[in-house]
Amino acid sequence: MSGGAPKFVVITGGVLSGLGKGLVAAGLGMLLRSRGLRVTPIKFDGYLNVDAGTMNPYEHGEVYVLDDGTECDMDLGTYERFMDVTLEGDNNITSGKLLLSVISKERRGEYLGKTVQFIPHVTGEAKRWILRVAEEQGADVVIMEVGGTVGDIENAYFIEAIRQLSNELGRENFAFVHVTLVPELPSGEQKTKPTQHSVSVLRSMGIDPDVIVARSRRPLEPKARQKIALYCGVREENVISDPDVGSIYRVPLLLEEHGLAERVAEVLGMSSAKAQAPGHGEGDLAELRRLLDRWESSRESVAVAIVGKYTHLRDAYASLLAAIDHASMHLSLRVDVRWIEATDVERGLIDVRSELEGVQGIVVPGGFGRRGAEGKVESIRVAREEGIPFLGLCFGLQLAVVEYARSVCGLEGANSTEVDPETPHPVIDLLPEQRGVGGKGGTMRLGAHPAVLRPGTLVHRIYGADLVFERHRHRYEVNPMYHNLLRGCGLVFSGTSPDGKLVEFIELPDHPFFVATQAHPEFKSRVLRPHPLFTAFLRACSGEEI
Ligand code: GLN
Repeated sequence: MSGGAPKFVVITGGVLSGLGKGLVAAGLGMLLRSRGLRVTPIKFDGYLNVDAGTMNPYEHGEVYVLDDGTECDMDLGTYERFMDVTLEGDNNITSGKLLLSVISKERRGEYLGKTVQFIPHVTGEAKRWILRVAEEQGADVVIMEVGGTVGDIENAYFIEAIRQLSNELGRENFAFVHVTLVPELPSGEQKTKPTQHSVSVLRSMGIDPDVIVARSRRPLEPKARQKIALYCGVREENVISDPDVGSIYRVPLLLEEHGLAERVAEVLGMSSAKAQAPGHGEGDLAELRRLLDRWESSRESVAVAIVGKYTHLRDAYASLLAAIDHASMHLSLRVDVRWIEATDVERGLIDVRSELEGVQGIVVPGGFGRRGAEGKVESIRVAREEGIPFLGLCFGLQLAVVEYARSVCGLEGANSTEVDPETPHPVIDLLPEQRGVGGKGGTMRLGAHPAVLRPGTLVHRIYGADLVFERHRHRYEVNPMYHNLLRGCGLVFSGTSPDGKLVEFIELPDHPFFVATQAHPEFKSRVLRPHPLFTAFLRACSGEEI
């Protein structure tokens, strides 16, 4: 439990977005945790969506799902993976959530005739939110990442709320870390002016940064460091160089080497006490370094095809790629990911069999809607017929059932009603109780749900457990009217909801590895704790018998 009042680290971004601020926050969290501190992250997003549920992956990358069913920004995934924490909806504050809460209170008459304003009402709501999360989650340190770039209108009031809070709780309890870009001229000279400008924007909002993390192509040169320290009013040792590294997993190690956690702990006045004491996670960094060294020098590799619909936008599959990385890191196996655009397969633009030649495994990940579905079904057929290891996730399970129904059970035209509402064999369908309920988002099955695993199945062996909880995000289900027929044709239901009504896992016995789940196990994989399904899948890809 927390040893006293919490401390706060505030991470802002300057110059431009996409600098990897989330990774700095997650990496710092991992470093502070390795010192035995309880760390709670909060991500603030300025957009007006209440959650990320209806956001298109093209626009915003993957929609990440928490145990409690919150659909949120993918940065929360980065936090969970690196810090090895389980977060709640409250760890993601959006402008939409804050305003909804203030406006609902206004409608209930809670402001009693007052003019409801950004300051003090919305800022007050933000402050209470932050303090509540810190208290409820027993944090020693709260790491708050402010989305976007300083100077954006939509995050300005949030930065103001934090400024007020630092004033009320004492500036000594706050460390302001500003992440900026130090570009390089063709001559190789590192330029600090953009950093100076973004710090002056921050200052105009009443915040003096304590630490500057300078993102650059190459390590920061002494001259650039001195200039940043001088113009931005921070100590030279508090300018942390964060150069490009080959792998994101090296970032925490790099930040540790460059002293980020030490500097932050010092600013917070924790340097002599807890922050320096060896903590429960002290072995984590050593373990990460050992794994990376082995992984990066490993020569064994497999090719895995991902058949999807957003294949030119890798962010749409961030958690899937992370889960593959974690498992392959622990197996010291290099994975060459080959993207197959399901829409191209469907349109006959590419031949899936030749595309899958030389591939040792196939993943069909989650997805929505009709486009590309037939291309995925075709890939699943090849995986089943050719004995190529297959892992189906959510939509991937549904389409594996569709393929099996058509090819093995002889149900011609079988489909999901999501793809073909007129199908004669709706093997995947909405349950009767879901029909006619709510608008978009209303009927979605979200968050962690239990699955009972059947002893004797591959899935049961892989998990080594009778009951598992995985995160869900879907509307459709394997139609209970077809359960007996599918099972009768040899499809094994290796896991179901405790009442037996919903199919959670399927597998095929006469196949090296044909496993699919209605859930999204990729959301529970951690850098240092890979998910067993992914490890087993990759082992199967490299030819091991599972
Ligand atoms: N579109 C499917 C459903 O809603 C699957 C969703 C998914 O893959 N996340 O049930």
